[in-house]
Amino acid sequence: MRDLPLSQISAIREHVRRLGARPAHEQRILRLWAQAKPQDSGSRPLESFMPTALREDLPKLSADLSGLLRLQSEHPAADGSVRWLLALKDGQTVETVGLPRDGLCVSSQVGCAMGCVFCMTGREGLIRQVGSAEIVAQVAFARIHRTVRKVVFMGMGEPAHNLDNVMEAIEVLGTAGNIAHKSLVFSTVGDPRVFDRLPKGLVKPALAVSLHTTRADLRAQLLPRAPDMSPEALVEAAEIYARQTGYPIQYQWTLLQGINDSEEELDGIVRLLKGKYALMNMIPYNAVDDLPFQRPSWERAAEIARSLHQRGILTKLRNSAGQDVEGGCGQLRARHFLGNKPLDNAVPKMTNMPNSTMLRVTVSPKKSTP
Ligand code: SF4
Repeated sequence: MRDLPLSQISAIREHVRRLGARPAHEQRILRLWAQAKPQDSGSRPLESFMPTALREDLPKLSADLSGLLRLQSEHPAADGSVRWLLALKDGQTVETVGLPRDGLCVSSQVGCAMGCVFCMTGREGLIRQVGSAEIVAQVAFARIHRTVRKVVFMGMGEPAHNLDNVMEAIEVLGTAGNIAHKSLVFSTVGDPRVFDRLPKGLVKPALAVSLHTTRADLRAQLLPRAPDMSPEALVEAAEIYARQTGYPIQYQWTLLQGINDSEEELDGIVRLLKGKYALMNMIPYNAVDDLPFQRPSWERAAEIARSLHQRGILTKLRNSAGQDVEGGCGQLRARHFLGNKPLDNAVPKMTNMPNSTMLRVTVSPKKSTP
């Protein structure tokens, strides 16, 4: 019997140490697991180097690790990505997305407390943290199905709100998991704890910052529970980390029609990011029935990206993966679990929108799941 749930990597380490594992055994177990290889891999018989108690426990340990999550549903998309809804041991679910070009997007929380008003995950609040082993298990699961060389923490949750687990998972993925440190991407709305903690990690990931607007007042409306850091302070802190690690900051900008696609915002981006070690990712919003935001036309989005590029801001226009299969963060889970539940006051009213976009949030009941 286990006396600790193995949802934390520290619990796995403790467990194997109790069975006599030395550091090399421990690392071997984590490596084979994180790389989705059987625990009896290799040409040397386990009897020749592994303590008996540990060796005898390996089948049970392997079963426990692969039982950390199970596939609930799979949704391949036309762009080569695949979205998986994965059930954790307690029945909670997370979304994990296999991306084109060997990427994987993992979830770090069930739900999210950040409450970004354009996000389905933000609507339900935080349900629970995802354990460090449950994060690595998403990678191990994906590697059974496809190659994974890059892991982005851009699924459900704000990694800054689950720092211990995320940093522990990053350390294992960047060592035993054989993923290049710059190919681990920590994504945050911006939190002073991130700028304190990331530089101290054994594995320093690349950093993505969800900026979305250069206006502090608008940011407070779009990201109502984000830490109180002005866009200027955020960019300044991120720039220091970029110079420390040698990886450019990846700014994320969800383009919302009539809200953050104005010329004033483009001027703000140039003012904030010109000369910075940064890349701007413009991602046209993936509209959903229940939220009152619109996706700008692709032509307008391309014009914005082109204009920024011409003004010296390295800008990429991206689609969120799996557009045709509930391609926004938390949409799959929401579809499975919200059903016809009304939104009530889940989405706050927004005032003082630019371009006279005073949004009145009228909430219609969600369509029933087909
Ligand atoms: S966009 Fe990210 S940080 Fe914001 S509510 Fe959704 S999951 Fe949380």
